[in-house]
Amino acid sequence: MSSQDLSFTANVDRQFLRAVNLLDLPPGLAQQIRTCNATYTVRFPVRLRERIHVFTGYRSVHSDHITPVKGGIRYSLAVNQDEVEALAALMTYKSAVVDVPFGGSKGGLCINPNDYDDREIEQITRRFAYELIKRDLIHPSQNVPAPDMGTSAREMAWIADEYQRLHPTEMDALACVTGKPVYKSGIAGRVEATGRGIQFALREFFREPLDVKRASLSGSLEGKRVIVQGLGNVGFHAAQFLSLEDGAVITGIIERDGAIVSEAGLDVLAVKAWIEASGSIKGYPDATFLSDGASVLESDCDLLIPAALEGVIHHKNAASIKAKLIIEAANGPITAAADDILRQRGVVVIPDLYANAGGVTVSYFEWVKNLSHIRFGRMERRAQETTQTLMLSELERLSGLIGVDKWSPTDSFKANYVKGADELELVRSGLDDTMREALQAMREKWHEDERVEDLRLAAYMIAIQKIALTYQSKSLG
Ligand code: GLU
Repeated sequence: MSSQDLSFTANVDRQFLRAVNLLDLPPGLAQQIRTCNATYTVRFPVRLRERIHVFTGYRSVHSDHITPVKGGIRYSLAVNQDEVEALAALMTYKSAVVDVPFGGSKGGLCINPNDYDDREIEQITRRFAYELIKRDLIHPSQNVPAPDMGTSAREMAWIADEYQRLHPTEMDALACVTGKPVYKSGIAGRVEATGRGIQFALREFFREPLDVKRASLSGSLEGKRVIVQGLGNVGFHAAQFLSLEDGAVITGIIERDGAIVSEAGLDVLAVKAWIEASGSIKGYPDATFLSDGASVLESDCDLLIPAALEGVIHHKNAASIKAKLIIEAANGPITAAADDILRQRGVVVIPDLYANAGGVTVSYFEWVKNLSHIRFGRMERRAQETTQTLMLSELERLSGLIGVDKWSPTDSFKANYVKGADELELVRSGLDDTMREALQAMREKWHEDERVEDLRLAAYMIAIQKIALTYQSKSLG
């Protein structure tokens, strides 16, 4: 295998080793951090349509330097051990970059979910969950899955229910999985969290004119021409928020069965509705359809958001990419070889281990909520309203006393000022803070050390340093 066709794991390892070269770690520690601790493979039967079907699933624990370990469960025919291990490694580094107290794990089931009806998916999910639960590979303090490609809140609800069924007296049972529906002790804002995280990351990036200039761009997100690959949960929410709230123009959307482009901008919600109704992006009105979707990755734009599969930007197309800035909403969309080419060409990449960490960040909030058994904001929301109301009426009274025209705030100001933060607002605030702080730390490394050529290297260095620190107090005898 040439260095240009590395496996997914080898691609992640190459990025890891670039960073290790610039760090001074105790002998052997880099290897321990990099190595995947364990991967469990399970083959299990489910009786469907009057015959027994055998499924293959994985749960990989890359690093349990902190427990629980965390990471999604993916349903896809492309799932294999190498992919699951690479994704688990990314979870380790991702959690360290954004300071969530988890090790890294990932799971996968080799299945095309579209081949089964809802009832069958439930049966398969429950059986897979049972296999993992009985080995503590799903457990509130050991290993906590979440949704990933091909799974959603629905599957997480079945997993939580299966865990509760097997542990009927365990108080913290619902913390065994995150990304659950809100009615089943999920948290507001988890569904869109990764897409929101992309938006917050980009907003923070555009707050620093120096970085914007490095990407040969100027100004803000307003009017930036954006191409999105993949209109799944992450790509859809990112594109939707960026166009509706930041004034970005979505000029291209790439899907499995082709791409659509429009210089005037695409209505993301309408495109999504079209795909859901017709089963294809083809035929969407007010846009030009191109059957060779991947070619649109190379179309002219300011910002490219690969939000689908790994390895879509590789050594063969990297030189033709015209975007000035790429944010990796997917895990591993740029191979290591392509990353070298893009760097040499001056394309700025906001890397996956930071960019798509919004999901695990809000998963962390959900896990904390489950362990504390109380909704965020429940105790303080009305108290905050009372204090703010008092403050407003006192300001009104004082402005009357000092003889100026009595100040009286508008109703909308009053309503916004007085309102206590609910769970969704708190989740957004915590996510925004996390994405800002992490990028600021990466930026500092990028700016201050000339050996740190890009944000990915900075993120890996930060992650590895944090993980290395946890080993100082670990028993390794
Ligand atoms: N599957 C998501 C990821 O790749 C979320 C993981 C989690 O919340 O544990 O980051």
